[in-house]
Amino acid sequence: PETITIQELANRMAERAVDVIRLLMKQGEMKKINDVIDADTAQLIAEEMGHTVRRVAESDVEEGLFDAADEEGAAVPRPPVVTIMGHVDHGKTSLLDAIRQTNVVSGEAGGITQHIGAYQVKTPAGSLVTFIDTPGHEAFTAMRQRGAKATDIVVLVVAADDGVMPQTAEAINHAKAAGVPIIVAINKIDKQGAKPERVRTELLQHELQVESLGGEILEVEVSATKKLNLDKLLELIALQAELLDLKANPDRPAEGIVIEAKLDKGRGPVATVLVQRGTLKGGDIVVAGSEWGRVRALIDDQGKAVSEAGPSLPVEILGFQGAPEAGDRLAVVENEARAREVTEYRQRQRRDLAAARSGRGGGGSIEQMM
Ligand code: GDP
Ligand code: MG
Repeated sequence: PETITIQELANRMAERAVDVIRLLMKQGEMKKINDVIDADTAQLIAEEMGHTVRRVAESDVEEGLFDAADEEGAAVPRPPVVTIMGHVDHGKTSLLDAIRQTNVVSGEAGGITQHIGAYQVKTPAGSLVTFIDTPGHEAFTAMRQRGAKATDIVVLVVAADDGVMPQTAEAINHAKAAGVPIIVAINKIDKQGAKPERVRTELLQHELQVESLGGEILEVEVSATKKLNLDKLLELIALQAELLDLKANPDRPAEGIVIEAKLDKGRGPVATVLVQRGTLKGGDIVVAGSEWGRVRALIDDQGKAVSEAGPSLPVEILGFQGAPEAGDRLAVVENEARAREVTEYRQRQRRDLAAARSGRGGGGSIEQMM
């Protein structure tokens, strides 16, 4: 049932909470400032204080923000989005760095690649692949908790000298639960104690049957430090992507997902966003979680300003009023008023939720909870 705290009700009416409490007291209800009352009581109080009440359902505010699917026919192929997962020290960062150094799109000689949480590379055959470059498990879980799907393919890194470990199993479970196909990269193949065969049989215990053992899971032996078979890995990703037949419509307002966000001293709130459908443009008004902004600049993984970003492209957005959170879904809205309506509604929802969680007479102010 819908509820609201006394404080929040007072805020929304621009009345004093103490007057709300007094009115409730007259009706025989003893309440404190952080107590919650139901929506019907709140409406009675508000009307008694001379306010007009408009009750807004979530479906009204959130309506039409995200389109369920791209219209048939309008969708065109888009690059796959890949997350690298695996046990700690098995070489996730090394592999991401090695791929990035060798294949970054349009990387000038010795060019400075900027860390924006994701980057795009070119496969030997010329197709594009987007890698999400954030600590795999947390980002993946955060996004899934918000019901968002950011990844098309998981590359599971398993060190050949260490084998399947707890976080390897965890990654397998995450990917399976999300219905995301896995490509196995057996890493550190250059090492003395490398036992790739053992890795393959251990994976069987987690119901991952690689191709060389008669299964369907794509696999490759790599060395991140010696840069062995990185092209092969990219080819496998392209192959898997082809099987998935990934498409999106670029000719519509953008939708996407926040991969990282921070408050930059010089540039203000900066959000790295993966565009998932549509095309994001300068001047667009965007909402993500309970923040909104007008796109002032879009910056790619090379640190270059770009005028627009289409499906599967990661970009930094400058122009947010505040930093959204990783995993927040991004949508373009018609105008500032709509952006405010959505984000103010979400901020209220968050406050109400926090207040409800803190329980009755919990003491602490609502603001402290945020
Ligand atoms: P992460 O925790 O999965 O991100 O692993 P890192 O990329 O930080 O790598 C952990 C350690 O393994 C580092 O000391 C790397 O230099 C080393 N390492 C990573 N890949 C390879 C590889 O292919 N061969 C060898 N010999 N060492 C590697
Ligand atoms: Mg790492």
